[in-house]
Amino acid sequence: MIRRFLNYYLPHKKLFAADFSCAVVVAVLELAFPLAVQWFVDSLLPSGEWSTIVLVSIGLFAVYAFSTLLQYIVHYWGHKLGINIETDMREELFQHVQKQSFRYFDNTKTGHIMSRFTNDLFDIGELAHHGPEDMFIAAMTFIGAFWIMLTINAKLALVVLVIVPILIGLIIFCNLQMNKAWKQMFSDIADVNARVEDSVSGIRVVQSFTNERFEISRFTKENKKFRKAKIQSYKVMASSLSGIYMMTRFIILLVLVYGAWLSFTSQLSYGELVAFILYVNVLFKPIDKISALMELYPKGMAGFKRFTEMIDSEPEVKDKKDAVAVDFLRGDISFRKVGFSYENKKTVLQEIDLDIKAGETVAFVGPSGAGKTTICSLIPRFYDVNEGAITIDGIDVRDMKKQSLRSQIGIVQQDVFLFTGTLRENIAYGMLDARDDEIAEAARRAHLTEFIASLPDGYETQIGERGLKLSGGQKQRIAIARMFLKNPPILILDEATSALDTETEMIIQQALSDLAKNRTTLVIAHRLATIRNADRIVVVTEEGIAEQGRHDELLEQGGIFANLHRVQYQR
Ligand code: ADP
Ligand code: MG
Repeated sequence: MIRRFLNYYLPHKKLFAADFSCAVVVAVLELAFPLAVQWFVDSLLPSGEWSTIVLVSIGLFAVYAFSTLLQYIVHYWGHKLGINIETDMREELFQHVQKQSFRYFDNTKTGHIMSRFTNDLFDIGELAHHGPEDMFIAAMTFIGAFWIMLTINAKLALVVLVIVPILIGLIIFCNLQMNKAWKQMFSDIADVNARVEDSVSGIRVVQSFTNERFEISRFTKENKKFRKAKIQSYKVMASSLSGIYMMTRFIILLVLVYGAWLSFTSQLSYGELVAFILYVNVLFKPIDKISALMELYPKGMAGFKRFTEMIDSEPEVKDKKDAVAVDFLRGDISFRKVGFSYENKKTVLQEIDLDIKAGETVAFVGPSGAGKTTICSLIPRFYDVNEGAITIDGIDVRDMKKQSLRSQIGIVQQDVFLFTGTLRENIAYGMLDARDDEIAEAARRAHLTEFIASLPDGYETQIGERGLKLSGGQKQRIAIARMFLKNPPILILDEATSALDTETEMIIQQALSDLAKNRTTLVIAHRLATIRNADRIVVVTEEGIAEQGRHDELLEQGGIFANLHRVQYQR
């Protein structure tokens, strides 16, 4: 796991090396400073040579300036390294999510995916920056400072060595308390957020039941709980900080007193005493860093583990090694004894046999939940069949390159998804490199021209989340324009007109029949009037395909279709 983590440093090894070596130099200078002071006090001061003192001070100033520059580099480059690694990982994750199959999204909450992209990657980025560098620098400073202290005065150094573990213990204890307090705080703020989200997305329900007061009181309770948790965490933080402060001052005082006694008994010079106290301070820094790492490391590594788990999950539907690219399908579709289920328990389709000729328009009708959408999802391999096979032009869809197969199939659904952006961009989603005249032609054939002309910004009108709100019929026509651009030989219309009023439906129906021309078209329809002209109607029930034939034939048969028809059109 750690090896894999370090692999992400490889593309940035130069930056890492530069940052790391600057950090080492800073640490060495830090370690050397007390020695300079010692020499200053013991040798320079007694000599009384003012000019040398000035010269030495200027020299020290130059060293400080150099160290300042290096520290700037360490802070800036180090964080740059962290964000570089974070960006790489985020991109890898996004690419991976794009590849995942429908079932993955059926089973994974969007919020769950979102937090991989934000929270986890923030933690990983912090660890990437601070982890290896701080660990090495801290170890080096700690050992270095301690070793120099030993050479200055072993007795005094041993006193420090005995007492420092108590300080470390105290810091670890404080960190644990802080973590506990933070965990509570995060869980409470999540509750607050959930309340806000629920209440805002349900505000229409809230207001129509006039339950605002109830919502406010529910919210207030959560909000107060969060306040309590946050205050608790501040309390823990305050006592931790002051406890650690007291402990460090105590250590310094102890060194001062014992050192004074050693110097009275001529075992320690003044310069050595001063240097020693400075080293005790140097020693506190790595302790601080290590304890920060002890929090960062598990958090970052847990995030990295979730990251790798996600990256390692293979998409369910993928290309075979020898998959063929199909760029010009005619559109003869065959289902051979197809069986399918979303979950192991429940079979949705069983032994489905169906042949659709190229250019044919086939309509699917039947009760909701029968499996009409499922049948259509199997053709572009949104899911793979469990049994049997689906072929197009005689080739098993599983032997085709997934992307080339999908380039041959267009789907218009009841819910049209519009991306945040302009109207033009949304239409051009059907063919990203479409020229303006092609877009205009597609819009014309989708009966959008008049509507677009009525907008002040025309094609440049912003739509989506913060833009113009479009009606169902307008959205549907954008979807149709996309299809004219995509121009696939196979077309699936899944309840494309079901949510529309009759008048809008008629306009759209025209555009759709224009679109369906010269394509193999599968239409799922709720209103039977819209499929009167289909070449064939297939009645799907939970038992499978129950009837098929032309509109009039099925009516004459007096079976399920005739029954459905009677229910819809009796007055
Ligand atoms: P129709 O389009 O005929 O209304 P569907 O094909 O959407 O029916 O659904 C057929 C059955 O499969 C239903 O029982 C439905 O609950 C189930 N189903 C549909 N989509 C999923 C899914 N993504 N995951 C699990 N079950 C599903
Ligand atoms: Mg459906």
